[in-house]
Amino acid sequence: MTFRQFWVDPYQSRLTTRIATVAGDRVTLESTIFFALSGGQESDAGTISGAPVLAAAKQGPEIFYTLPEQHGLAPGQEVEVAIDWTRRYRLMRLHFAAEIVLELFLRVLAGVERIGSHIAQDKSRIDFAWPESISPLLAQIAAQANAIVAADFEIRTGFDDEANQRRFWEIDGFSRVSCGGTHVKRTGEIGQIRLKRNNIGKGKERVEIYLDESRSIASGQG
Ligand SMILES: [Zn+2]
Repeated sequence: MTFRQFWVDPYQSRLTTRIATVAGDRVTLESTIFFALSGGQESDAGTISGAPVLAAAKQGPEIFYTLPEQHGLAPGQEVEVAIDWTRRYRLMRLHFAAEIVLELFLRVLAGVERIGSHIAQDKSRIDFAWPESISPLLAQIAAQANAIVAADFEIRTGFDDEANQRRFWEIDGFSRVSCGGTHVKRTGEIGQIRLKRNNIGKGKERVEIYLDESRSIASGQG
């Protein structure tokens, strides 16, 4: 099993660990800070022992990293893993912005079904099965989300079920949700956000979430 150091410290951008297995161009690590696409959050970008990671894939308890074919790495070898922190921090902020926006929509759209979500470096999005336009709700939801950001609440994370690697996040008095992504520690780190509606077909509504860089608080690597 690949040990998920990105859950222990989601702010860690470099890690010294060992290669666990090698199968052609695919390797696994004993421990990792390099997140692989899961729950809609895109994979990190980065290197293992200086070689660019071409793909990262979660398969059960393991995470497989595809490297250039001539990587020359062997099981047991010590390696340094480095991730693109600028990208990861934007993914973490846009991920948690989506968590807040989803919770707020679930409160006003009784019985709504979430049919998709995606977190990229430039924006995140959530898709709902809903018969009416969500446009009239956007200003109110954005204001509520930005109030939660401004309040700078603590976001606690931990295991719901460690044997099955199930994680949760919780803000006291707001919500507790199962999620295996990487989360910021406080809502203030997200900075102010903007929402946009997109019509993606009959009975389907999409909300897109953007970081409002002009209004965001300055925040660096913790
Ligand atoms: Zn999450």
